[in-house]
Amino acid sequence: IRGREKLIKQYQMHKAAGRILELPSKHKGRWHELFGNDNPIYIEIGTGRGRFISTLAHQHPDINFVGIELEHELLGRVGRKAAELEVGNNLILTPADASRLIDFFDAGEVHRIYLNFSDPWPKTRHAKRRLTYRSFLQSYRSVLRADGAVHFKTDNRDLFEFSLNELADDDWKLSAITLDLHNSRWMEGNIMTEYEEKFSSRGMPIYRVEARPYP
Ligand code: SAM
Repeated sequence: IRGREKLIKQYQMHKAAGRILELPSKHKGRWHELFGNDNPIYIEIGTGRGRFISTLAHQHPDINFVGIELEHELLGRVGRKAAELEVGNNLILTPADASRLIDFFDAGEVHRIYLNFSDPWPKTRHAKRRLTYRSFLQSYRSVLRADGAVHFKTDNRDLFEFSLNELADDDWKLSAITLDLHNSRWMEGNIMTEYEEKFSSRGMPIYRVEARPYP
């Protein structure tokens, strides 16, 4: 419980500082005003503890990042990580459900979407909850620019296969596909997520694909 209280405190602190924003729909179509520039917007859905998006935001101050995470308290950790890395105003975190993505972003407002180690929801009756289920893909298509892309990586072979099928059925153009990211040419510049570190240290291969909404 002490740990949880600490996380809540951190969450409140980063909210007060403007890093965490609870009403993303207020900024639909106007994210550039919030960031104060016209730089591209990249989002990550399901930041978890946030090493990936904090590191990326630190490396790319000329790109605006929005991290979306269902579990509010995790964002306290992400805020801390961003502070440790001295990330500037180019990273906003929002506690939200990605199934409402089209309420948060206007058509064409997003340049890139990262999905990292998304929950696999292995039961068939839960397939609709997978972040690469067709209804999610349709919302990604509507918020992405025509030249935008989804970058997806996972340790879960079944989820990867499912995702490739959903993407293909919805006419996405697939590229940079690998069944073993860590032994591939796409490893250069790869930022390991917390889950990625855990699974790859057990010798499990990491699957990855880039998908563009138009062929
Ligand atoms: N990306 C991190 C990593 O690779 O270490 C975390 C992976 S974890 C398995 C998946 C995360 O996605 C969880 O933190 C979960 O709360 C979040 N998530 C799942 N469904 C979501 C949704 N619909 N909207 C936002 N976040 C979601």
